[in-house]
Amino acid sequence: MGLLTIGAFAKAARLSPKALRLYDELGLLTPARVDPVSGYRLYAPEQLEQARLVAWLRRLGMPLARIRRVCALDGAAAAAEVRAFWAEVEADTAARRELAAFLVGHLSWKEPAMPLGIRYAALSDAGLVRERNQDTAYAGERLLAVADGYGERGAPASAAAVGALRRLEADGIPAGGLLNVLEDAVERAGRAVDGVTSAAPGDAGTTLTAMLWTGSQLALVHIGDSRAYVLRDGELFLITHDHTMVQSMVDEGRLSAEEAASHPERSLLIRALGAGADGTADMRLHDARPADRYLLCSDGLSAVVPAGEIRRVLAESGGPEPTVRALVALANGSGGPDNVSCVVADVVELERQ
Ligand code: MN
Repeated sequence: MGLLTIGAFAKAARLSPKALRLYDELGLLTPARVDPVSGYRLYAPEQLEQARLVAWLRRLGMPLARIRRVCALDGAAAAAEVRAFWAEVEADTAARRELAAFLVGHLSWKEPAMPLGIRYAALSDAGLVRERNQDTAYAGERLLAVADGYGERGAPASAAAVGALRRLEADGIPAGGLLNVLEDAVERAGRAVDGVTSAAPGDAGTTLTAMLWTGSQLALVHIGDSRAYVLRDGELFLITHDHTMVQSMVDEGRLSAEEAASHPERSLLIRALGAGADGTADMRLHDARPADRYLLCSDGLSAVVPAGEIRRVLAESGGPEPTVRALVALANGSGGPDNVSCVVADVVELERQ
């Protein structure tokens, strides 16, 4: 079959001649021949496939240099490249979605008309497979915390981390410098964990995800792969970022979210409290709103139960007490492969005294 004029080729590819001229200028699709006299572009029928691919990749929002790279690859390698690109887009969108939600909340936050309080419950369970429970869960008037211990002395490690933070319950919240107080508390927790794990053979340590209630805000401290979520206006937001090797690979686009979920090394932590581990904590202030519902959980829930199910149970199970029981039952109903811990706290308006 002979060469097609740009008009005929555009029609067959369902693209405009203008788009084809642009692709040529950008080096994405070079015509088979350019008539030396008229300057008309001529295309070979077998270029149709590539023309369509370029159009699809542009619709996907892929940068030009990357489209050029994909077009040079064979089917399987091209598919892998598109998958990697999309993982990056989703990771970036997720990070920006969280930031946007945070900013919307922050900018629309007003000093609550009524004093606020929290209603809370905590529950920790060994699950159906593990012999011991190395998680620690705690909920009190000011402190909510989940810690997931690992290694030979995992249980005392998680208990020590939460125990060190519990001093904040008694000390009261200073007017200023809340994040400094938390930073000191995390340092104390790290030393307490070192104290109970240093004699243990092999690696031992714990995750720590905790929130401190100030009366209008929640100060979040987070190290490891336990998680904090907030259910607000019926939507579930993850407000922590997993400190795992697979999550950092997802962030870099080297792994898709689905691949990460089934990765054999998915629980490998890049930050934790414990000997030789990077114990740097993420810290952040979170403005609370009446009717917010917070969930802190260990990976025994989040790695086993899909987010949609967690959202449904949080939205439908009544008070904190039945909700933590329902969440633990959900994890165990999915096989209960790991220790599971849940803390649920509702922000409520208190009657004025
Ligand atoms: Mn766990």
